[in-house]
Amino acid sequence: MNFADLGLSDELLRAVGDSGYTEPTPIQAEAIPPVLMMKDIIGIAQTGTGKTASFVLPMIDILSHGRSRALMPRSLILEPTRELAAQVAENFEKYGKYQKLSMALLIGGVSMGDQMKALEKGVDVLIATPGRLMDLFDRGKILLSGCDILVIDEADRMLDMGFIPDIESICEKLPRNRQTLLFSATMPPPIKKLSDKFLSNPKHIEVARPATAANNIAQRLVETSPRTKKTTLKKLLRSEDISTAIIFSNRKTTVRDLQKSLQQDGFKAGQIHGDMSQPERMRELDLFKSGEINILVASDVAARGLDIKGVSHVFNYDAPWHPDDYVHRIGRTGRAGATGTAITLVTPTDEEAIDNIEKLTGQTIDRGNKSSGKPAPKRDAAKADTRKADTPKADTPKADAPKAREETPAEKPKSKPRRQPKADTRDETPAPVKTEKAEPKKAQKPEPKAAPASDADDEDWNGPLPGFLSVKLGD
Ligand code: ADP
Ligand code: MG
Repeated sequence: MNFADLGLSDELLRAVGDSGYTEPTPIQAEAIPPVLMMKDIIGIAQTGTGKTASFVLPMIDILSHGRSRALMPRSLILEPTRELAAQVAENFEKYGKYQKLSMALLIGGVSMGDQMKALEKGVDVLIATPGRLMDLFDRGKILLSGCDILVIDEADRMLDMGFIPDIESICEKLPRNRQTLLFSATMPPPIKKLSDKFLSNPKHIEVARPATAANNIAQRLVETSPRTKKTTLKKLLRSEDISTAIIFSNRKTTVRDLQKSLQQDGFKAGQIHGDMSQPERMRELDLFKSGEINILVASDVAARGLDIKGVSHVFNYDAPWHPDDYVHRIGRTGRAGATGTAITLVTPTDEEAIDNIEKLTGQTIDRGNKSSGKPAPKRDAAKADTRKADTPKADTPKADAPKAREETPAEKPKSKPRRQPKADTRDETPAPVKTEKAEPKKAQKPEPKAAPASDADDEDWNGPLPGFLSVKLGD
C-alpha cells in the first residue's frame, strides 16, 4: 500500500514524501479514503499507530477548496490536552506546507491575542481543547455554525478527563450535516454512546491491538503483598509446569536479589540487567538457551533486543510501569502457535499499573487461575463519572508517573524518552513504519512560556511506532 493509492492530492503527496513517510500505517490506509469521501468514521487503533495523519491528511485536501469566513472556523479538532493539540497543529503545518491553510489553536495556557485575531479573520482549521473552546463560545467569540468537519480525537482520554459533557454540547452547536470523525485507542461504552448520538452512519475502522491477538497466552494476576512476594513467586515456580521462564522485575537491584534467592533455593536461575556488560548478558543468555539454567530474571531494558523467545512462562515480579512493556514482556511466551502463560504478581500499589495495562490491551486480566480474554473493562465508565466532578476543564491530566519507588529504578524509567523509538526493540522485529524524527519539536505557534514541558501526557506516548507493535504474539 502506497500513499499515492489513497486518493490524496499531488501537493499533499509531496509533503508526505518530504516528511519521510514511505507507507501509510494500517489505520491511515483504511481511514483516508472514506474520509475523503466525506463519510463519518470511527477509528480505533492503539496509541502510536498514526491516527493523527489519518485525519489531518484528508482534511488538508478537503479544506484546500473553499475559503474561511470571519469567526467561523471551517473545521474543528478537539484534543484532550494542549500537548496533543500542539502536535496536531504541527502535523497541519508539516503536511499542509504546499497548500495554504489557516489555523488557530485554542488551548489552555496559551495567550489568546493572536489566536483571537486569527479567528476573527477566519480559519480553515481550529484545534482546541474542549474547556477552552467552551469558554470562548460562551463569551460569544466564536461561531460554530460554519464548521463542516469535526474531529473528536483521543476520545477515551477525553472521557477519562471528564470532557464528554463539553463535547456533547459542542456537537450540538455544529451543523447537523457535518462530517464527524472520532478516534480512540479503546471504545468504552460512554464513547460508543457518544458516537451513536453524534455520528451518522459511521464507517467503523478498527486496527487489531497486539495484546488482544494473543489468545494463546493465558494471562492472570496473582495477588500478593510486598512481604510475601518472593514466597508467592517460588510457590508458583514449583506448582506451574515450567520448562523455561523469564521473570521480569522493574529494578535491577531486585533482579540481582531475586536471582540470588532463587539460586539458594535450588532453582536454576540466571540474570540479565542493565548493569551487566553485553558479553556478560550474552553468556547468561547462552546458558539459558542451552538449558543449563531454565529461569532468567530480567529487567526490561536488558531483555530488550535480546533474542529470548518461546519460553513457557513469563512472570512479572513487578507490574511494569508502562503498559506497553507488559505487551512486550508477555510476548516472550506463546510463540509459534505454542501456548504460553503470563503471570503478574500484584500488590496494592500495582493496581494503577494493572489498570493502565487493561486499558491498553482492552482486556481484563483474570485474577486467579483461569485464562483471560474478556473484552474491554467496563470500569472506564464508572471512573469517568467520578472524575467528572473534579476539574472538567483542566487541559492537562494529572501526571501518571510511577509512584512509590522505594529504590532506584532498574534502568532509567522511560518517562520522557517515551516519545522516541526504543531502538533496541527494533532488532527483534522491524517496525513497519520509518520513524520520521526522534523528538518531535513542540509547535512554534504556542508561546513557549505558555506550554511548559509538561509531564502530563507522558503516559500518552505518541512517539513513533515502536517495534513491539508489529510483533504478532501468535507467531
Ligand atoms: P496516534 O494518534 O495513533 O497515537 P500519532 O498520529 O501521534 O499516533 O503517530 C505516532 C507516530 O508515528 C508519530 O511520531 C508520527 O510521526 C509517526 N507516523 C505516523 N504515520 C506514519 C507513517 N505513515 N510512517 C511513518 N511514521 C508515521
Ligand atoms: Mg493521537
